[in-house]
Amino acid sequence: MQVRFEDVTMQFENKKVLDRINFTLPSKELISFLGPSGCGKSTTLYLISGLLNATSGKIYFDDRDVTKLDPVKRQVGLVFQNYALYPHLTVRENIMFPLKMSKMAKNLRNERAEEMAELTKIADQLDKYPRQLSGGQQQRVAISRALSKSPEILLMDEPLSNLDARLRIEMREEIRRIQQETGVTTVFVTHDQEEALSIADNVMVLESGEIQQMTDPVTLYQKPRNLFVSKFIGSPI
Ligand code: ADP
Ligand code: MG
Repeated sequence: MQVRFEDVTMQFENKKVLDRINFTLPSKELISFLGPSGCGKSTTLYLISGLLNATSGKIYFDDRDVTKLDPVKRQVGLVFQNYALYPHLTVRENIMFPLKMSKMAKNLRNERAEEMAELTKIADQLDKYPRQLSGGQQQRVAISRALSKSPEILLMDEPLSNLDARLRIEMREEIRRIQQETGVTTVFVTHDQEEALSIADNVMVLESGEIQQMTDPVTLYQKPRNLFVSKFIGSPI
C-alpha cells in the first residue's frame, strides 16, 4: 500500500514540528526515516498510524483519504524501541492479542501465531514469557505481533536502538528478510546513518521539520542535496 502526505503540517502549541511536508512512500518498499533526535521522525510515524492528527494537510493510503480515520481502522502494525510486550502474557498470547481484539476464532489465532513465529524464527519460544527472552528475541515477538493482523503497513520506531551493536546488525538483516518475505510496506525510523543506508530501499532525511532529501541509499551517499545531508550522512562531498 502506498502512503502519501500532502502539505502536512504538525504544530504543538506554538512549535511547528512539520512544515507542509509532501512525500509518497511506494508500495511494498522498506523506507527509512533518518534524522537527528527531535527532527520529527516519530511525529511523522504517528501521523501515518493515526496516533496523532495533523494540524493541516491530507494523508492518503492509496486513494483513500485517511486524514481523519482513527488508528484501529488504518490497519497499521507498530513496533517500538522498548518492544512494549505484555509481561504477564506468553509469547504466543502476545502475538495473538491483536487477533483476540478483532474476535478471530481461537484455533485460527493459534495458527496465525505459529505462522508468525515461524516467520520471525521464535517458534521454539512460544510458551515463554517476555522476560525470559533476549532483547533481539523480544523484538522478534513484537514484529510477529505487529504483523499478525496482516497490516497494510508496518511502522517501526527505532526498533533496534535498545540492542547491542552485534544484535543490531543481526536484527537489521532479519527485518530486511521479513520485509522481503511478506512484501509489507515498511517504515523504519532511525537516527543511525549506517543503519538507514544498509537496510532501506529509499531513505527520507528529515531536519527542522522539512524533508531534506528522499532517494535510494547510493544516490543519497554519492549526491547529497545540501550541506546538512552530506554532513549527516558523512558522505565525501
Ligand atoms: P524524533 O522522533 O525525530 O526524535 P519527534 O517527532 O519525537 O522527533 O519530535 C519532534 C519535535 O516535536 C521535538 O522537538 C519534540 O520535542 C516535539 N514534540 C513531540 N511531541 C510533542 C508533544 N506531544 N507536545 C509538544 N512537543 C512535542
Ligand atoms: Mg523519535
